[in-house]
Amino acid sequence: MQLLSDRILNMSTSATLAMAAKARELRGEGKDIIGLSLGEPDFKVPDFIREAAIQAINDGYNSYTPVDGYGELKEAIITKFKRDNKLSYTPSQIVVSTGAKQCLANIAGVMLNEGDEVLLPCPYWVSYSDIVKLYDGVPIEVKTSIDTDFKMTAEQLEAAITPKTKMIWFSSPCNPSGSVYSETELRALADVLVKHPNIYVVSDEIYEHINYGQGHASMAAFEDMYNNTITVNGVSKAFAMTGWRIGFIGAPEKIARACNKMQGQMTSGANCIAQRAVITALNESPSRVQYMIDEFKERRDLILSLVNDIQGFKANTPVGAFYVFPDVTYFFGKTLKGHKINNASDFSLYLLEEALVATVTGDAFGNPNCIRISYAASKEQIIEAIKRIKAAVS
Ligand code: PMP
Ligand code: GLU
Repeated sequence: MQLLSDRILNMSTSATLAMAAKARELRGEGKDIIGLSLGEPDFKVPDFIREAAIQAINDGYNSYTPVDGYGELKEAIITKFKRDNKLSYTPSQIVVSTGAKQCLANIAGVMLNEGDEVLLPCPYWVSYSDIVKLYDGVPIEVKTSIDTDFKMTAEQLEAAITPKTKMIWFSSPCNPSGSVYSETELRALADVLVKHPNIYVVSDEIYEHINYGQGHASMAAFEDMYNNTITVNGVSKAFAMTGWRIGFIGAPEKIARACNKMQGQMTSGANCIAQRAVITALNESPSRVQYMIDEFKERRDLILSLVNDIQGFKANTPVGAFYVFPDVTYFFGKTLKGHKINNASDFSLYLLEEALVATVTGDAFGNPNCIRISYAASKEQIIEAIKRIKAAVS
């Protein structure tokens, strides 16, 4: 009998985490790697949040929490949804999980049956496709291109829907393209979806605050989409709390209850100290973390001008998140310093070996023409990394 399940053998390793591990390993060997592969803010967790965590430890918070999160945290999430997104939820519609990643896994686990199709506008976040497959769903890629700023149009959505379509998952701001759907663009998608009341939307809004454009729009804020939308969010990005592992959903009550049940068998409630700290984080005005967004915007402007200055790189202008996603097809078929480049994976690997810069291949995000470069790094690192990349490809 085989040792490992088909389930795990059929799963791809997370390309973002794999590249980060590889960069760490090479650094351990003494190589001067600049890591632009992982989407992880390089800021310290703001003082007021750290103090709340220390206070929680000293106040003796150490027991299991309610599976779906402390009541006080759910109240803070409800306040946040109302304040920032004009969304009204009751406590039974909120589930707190160990990162937005667990929120997504819960949703797939409680909603998918074998063969159910999940539409993934490409490029999509790396883990969507494998989470869907893990729960026997079928990811259906909806291709977009740089010409539409990597956004799916209403026509494309309509054409991709079949009787088996169960859900659509997307992130706005988008990881990896940085594209942000305006309210008008979301409404156009909603106009298609309202004709298909059995289809549910997973609106991943984890980069909500990291937006340099006209502001954030939430799918669930449309009255006719509210009952068909699960809003996913968390504190990893805006509050630089990646390792604290807190994410949350606002969802139709039946779905939230099912996620609670699933989590009760899988992991129980999320970490108690982190939950206490997040109460403080969410009750504060988002303006407390604006300094990080301002800095990310400066880095976006910097990296975009540097990247577009390299012959063969063609990038859209990211409006949110902290990634650039240049098309690098110009290099396919070419030989660079003895390395044959056939695709984006070859190119990303070449940059790691030759320029000592870690990026992620676009294949991992459902777009084989691009690579993802994270600019959640200092300006000095960004300047040095792009200088090295330019030297390696010219
Ligand atoms: N969704 C997107 C689009 C992301 O980029 C990430 C990054 N990790 C996640 C979800 C998961 O976030 P978390 O750290 O809360 O699990
Ligand atoms: N979301 C980040 C990224 O896309 C973190 C890595 C991960 O969770 O896979 O790089």
